[in-house]
Amino acid sequence: MNTQTSKECSFTWQTNVCLAPYSTFKIGGEAKLFAKVSSKKELLSALSYCHENDLYYYILGKGSNTLFDDRGFDGAVILNGLAGFEQKGGAFEVLSGTSFSLFAMQSAKIGYGGLEYAAGIPGSIGGAIFMNAGASGQEIASLVESVDYINEDGKYKCYPKEELLFKYRWSSFHKMKGFIFSASLRLYPDAAARKVQIELINKRKQTQPLKEPSCGCVFRNGKEFIAGKLIDEMNLKGLQIGGAQVSNTHGNFIINRGSAKAQDVKDLVQIIEDNVFEKTQYKLEREIRYVPYQRN
Ligand SMILES: Cc1cc2nc3c(=O)[nH]c(=O)nc-3n(C[C@H](O)[C@H](O)[C@H](O)COP(=O)(O)OP(=O)(O)OC[C@H]3O[C@@H](n4cnc5c(N)ncnc54)[C@H](O)[C@@H]3O)c2cc1C
Repeated sequence: MNTQTSKECSFTWQTNVCLAPYSTFKIGGEAKLFAKVSSKKELLSALSYCHENDLYYYILGKGSNTLFDDRGFDGAVILNGLAGFEQKGGAFEVLSGTSFSLFAMQSAKIGYGGLEYAAGIPGSIGGAIFMNAGASGQEIASLVESVDYINEDGKYKCYPKEELLFKYRWSSFHKMKGFIFSASLRLYPDAAARKVQIELINKRKQTQPLKEPSCGCVFRNGKEFIAGKLIDEMNLKGLQIGGAQVSNTHGNFIINRGSAKAQDVKDLVQIIEDNVFEKTQYKLEREIRYVPYQRN
């Protein structure tokens, strides 16, 4: 693998890096440039390099909601390696590259509630905030006090919750271009948190295809329907295009049977949407993020 060192900083830009291992779908071609940033200095240096060179870039957390293109990415992928958290009572200052699942388990183990549902969500804190991740009637937005953000020109801003908008699997960050650096989360004492968490993990194991590569739920639920149930009712479970298949365990999961291409997933998504619309007039909305090879 070729390497190239950025002038300002010690981290390395790698070239032609296969992206499949960096997405839980295990799909994707090569990134032209790829760097893992592990400090604020490295992050700022990577962003300024992209800015100065007018490079198309993609911020990657744990890749658990990301479908890369088969051709890869004709720009720079910045992998978030900023991990760790500080606790002051129920207030937790969490760096955005921290594992959402691990943080949820650690906080529940020391007696804090609010993230019982999150153990088993294989994302980062940054990805969870960006997507407003949630399950079992809870979502991360309810715990957010503020988010520290770095704009693409390197300017830092702390957004209090009141300045942010969170909706179902959506946040204001979808409309912004920059990096969620850290979040201040307020959890609450709850001695039963870990017990509830274990129950939810066991439920996940029974209802989701966790042993096969996927990006979790492909579609958002609607006001009038649960996407997985709808797909099941359309008899689409088990439908396979190339190496991509609608899971037999959960209708809203598409799994990679081992050799799936991004195109297989995209074709299958289209077939599901068409089928559901034809039979019910419901328009499914995609939750997973497809990353095109080139800037649109
Ligand atoms: C088995 C499985 C189960 C799942 N269960 C759930 C569930 O119960 N509930 C749920 O909500 N989701 C679930 N998901 C989906 C996924 O885990 C979440 O959406 C998660 O929050 C994505 O985090 P990530 O770090 O992997 O994001 P990525 O896929 O890396 O990125 C997703 C988006 O966030 C942006 N992003 C990531 N980090 C940053 C940052 N620091 N700054 C700015 N932008 C950023 C990316 O650019 C991208 O647009 C599941 C996925 C899997 C594979």
